[in-house]
Amino acid sequence: MCPNPMGPVWGRLDNDPPVFFADRAAAEFPPGAWERVLGLGLLRELPPSNSAACSECGTGFPNRIFFLPSGGPGGVRPVLQCRECGPIPLDPAVLRRWAVDVPAVAAAVLRLAGGTGHPAEAVLGRLWHLGRINAAGRSRDAYLARAVHAEARAGVAAALAGRPAAVVFVPTEAAAGRWGTATRNPVVALEAAVTLGPAGLTFDPTAVDARLPGGAPVERAPRPKKRAGPATTNERLTAALVAHLRAARAHALATADQPCGSQLLPRPTMQFLADEVGVSPPTVTRRFREPAGRVLRLYWEWAADIHSVLNFRPIGGGKKG
Ligand SMILES: [Zn+2]
Repeated sequence: MCPNPMGPVWGRLDNDPPVFFADRAAAEFPPGAWERVLGLGLLRELPPSNSAACSECGTGFPNRIFFLPSGGPGGVRPVLQCRECGPIPLDPAVLRRWAVDVPAVAAAVLRLAGGTGHPAEAVLGRLWHLGRINAAGRSRDAYLARAVHAEARAGVAAALAGRPAAVVFVPTEAAAGRWGTATRNPVVALEAAVTLGPAGLTFDPTAVDARLPGGAPVERAPRPKKRAGPATTNERLTAALVAHLRAARAHALATADQPCGSQLLPRPTMQFLADEVGVSPPTVTRRFREPAGRVLRLYWEWAADIHSVLNFRPIGGGKKG
């Protein structure tokens, strides 16, 4: 598995507070990536940490830092007061720390997505309205939600009520999974859409399109009849997986020049397929298990395999992939 150089940033963005510490940050990134990430302007340096673990006794106990007057640079030098070892002078560089600058991330995502507008905080510390982006053939509102845990969920859902077509970016696939059915909005992980390539940050619109129901206006899309027979449901599921595999192929081709090669789009969840087709998740599972679900099962396997994705052609001819 190729490490995404931005992975630790997106992971941190979903934490509170979203802070990196100098003594451990570089080790979280692929070689050389921490320095590149620092240069992107998405991290904001905070005042130095006032506690640290003791490197002498290795207890890992967070010790108070005292700043003593000194003739050196900055006029002070940090001293760690360890219970076991006593006072230990520190290199000020180890106390540096940075927070993910959420407004800077919001502005960068809007710019990379080719959107318009000015990001504005919609729910304190949790939700930003980015502006408008074009996705699946129409202009939509775009939001960035971060660190939405139990206590913030209701406020964020309320802010998104009445905007079911708006795209909601969240930091990670794990966050997208946690989001579940909290709202009807298409939810896209920055982890899938924004990567750090040789020329800087890149945005892959297919990661967004793959989460949108075929470009149809979400608000007006009629719910498919529940009475649709097995063949119809099967055909619709097949079409949804073909659409995903086409998007995944485009994403794989778009990321082919990355250091670790083509990247796989996350496979749609059963819940996503159920929403696409307008049936319940257990119905989707049943269709997959039936003998007639052979093609569904095959497409499902292909969606997790980069070589199958790159070579994708729909079974039985049809339009070219
Ligand atoms: Zn110590």
